[in-house]
Amino acid sequence: MSIYQIKPIPRTLDVSPEHYIGGRRVPSRERFEVRSPLDWNHVLANVSRGSEQEVAMAVEAAQKAFPEWASLGPTGRAVFVRRLADLIEENVDRIAQVETLDVGMLERSLRDRLVFRAAKNYRVYADLAERYEENVWHSNGTQNRIIRMPAGPAAIIVPWNAPFLLATWKTAPALMAGCTVVLKPAEWAPLSASVLADLVHEAGFPPGVFNVVQGLGDEAGAALTRHPAIRRISLTGSPETGRVVGAQAAKSIVPFSAELGGKSPFIVFEDADLDAAAEKAAYQYDDAGQVCFAGTRLLIQESIADKFMELFIQYVQRHVLGDPRDERTTIAPLIHPEHLERVDAFIQRARAAGDRILFGGMRADGLWYEPTLVVPRANDSEIVQREVFGPVLTFQTFRDEYEAVALANSTVYGLAAVIYTHSSERAERVGRMVRSGLVWVNTFAVRDLTAPFGGTGISGIGREGGHYALEFYSDLKTLQIREGSVE
Ligand code: NAD
Repeated sequence: MSIYQIKPIPRTLDVSPEHYIGGRRVPSRERFEVRSPLDWNHVLANVSRGSEQEVAMAVEAAQKAFPEWASLGPTGRAVFVRRLADLIEENVDRIAQVETLDVGMLERSLRDRLVFRAAKNYRVYADLAERYEENVWHSNGTQNRIIRMPAGPAAIIVPWNAPFLLATWKTAPALMAGCTVVLKPAEWAPLSASVLADLVHEAGFPPGVFNVVQGLGDEAGAALTRHPAIRRISLTGSPETGRVVGAQAAKSIVPFSAELGGKSPFIVFEDADLDAAAEKAAYQYDDAGQVCFAGTRLLIQESIADKFMELFIQYVQRHVLGDPRDERTTIAPLIHPEHLERVDAFIQRARAAGDRILFGGMRADGLWYEPTLVVPRANDSEIVQREVFGPVLTFQTFRDEYEAVALANSTVYGLAAVIYTHSSERAERVGRMVRSGLVWVNTFAVRDLTAPFGGTGISGIGREGGHYALEFYSDLKTLQIREGSVE
């Protein structure tokens, strides 16, 4: 597999490198370089590096804006939020361009699907919050009413993979619940958050409702999570960061929601449509495997393992490593040289430990890594048990349902699972026994935004999606009035 020519990267990008605080751009003296994974020599921007001081400014702006934003109510807030959704749709090309150059994601899928989905996040939450009906009942001679109180300024921290989508996924419920937000994008991919800030500005949000502070995790991120005015912390990132941020949330006694890593099983039974299963299995290499819910552990029933492998290899061979702006490309580069080293080190250790590399296991040009399949020496191999977050899948076989479920549930993660079977009874049985926040049967990565999303085990705490996220960003209050005492 070869990498054909990378097209030139534009000299200038339509992105501000500064923070967005209290409705205006704020620079820091300290900066950090953002480079493109398409060409590591190309510096895309010199971005402001937030410190405790800029974080404090942003949280104070969010605190100041909070009472008025909260008092607007869902209908008042929805006006701004729907305007933002419109602007995202009007700026699909700009957002897709920036995200592709900054992260390396396939431009085609951003343009055709993901940016629209980001806009949809805001629309779905505008609708959900507007339609919310307070629960009212009578008991003990009183009327009980459950009211959602907006919680206050929320800290929202996102990772470098799919940063635009994830920023909208989190800020949509926060804003519609009546919280003001301080968004901290990842240091390896901060640029699309800055574009989002431009669109928020254009949508006319009151200053301070939506703020962006760029910076490093242990500087700006840590300062944000420990700020005493923050009333909610929502993180998407690695379990390691989840532990650190969770400890801070506990110290501050602030509700904490965490979407962390995954090592999802992809289970194929002998009664499945093998061609469809093999095609989707090969699709797990998309975006270079830098997808939290990717089904990276292929668990295939012994009786059809050879046939499945034959089909799977045919689909893998169709992958094209290349420029993510090119229509033909299906496998993009990894985000950063450090990440490339990390992925390759997993493979080196797997080799040394006696795992068999069936194909791939090599760097290609630049930051590209070949799609790799590993047959582990045993289920306790590191390559089976730890998230690689690269184009690396493992291949294991099972005899029966019992063994399939045992293998599926044998890691400390539990974000998602994929099952291919033709039997509805088996889908129901295995679907219920697999321990994960989400199970896809005969499909992958289709999600209804109103359904809960989140992990079990070290894949996370709490659920996002639908009204689950609106509840997270609200404090519930019971208003109890003695019947007949008021008119
Ligand atoms: P990361 O944990 O290194 O960083 C995530 C974010 O946390 C970044 O913005 C970072 O700056 C910030 N951060 C780091 N240390 C911090 C600290 N001490 N205090 C506050 N903030 C801090 O993760 P990453 O490498 O950017 O992303 C990859 C990881 O994210 C993978 O494990 C992947 O599975 C996970 N992920 C999970 C989901 C999900 O929905 N479950 C989605 C996407 C990515």
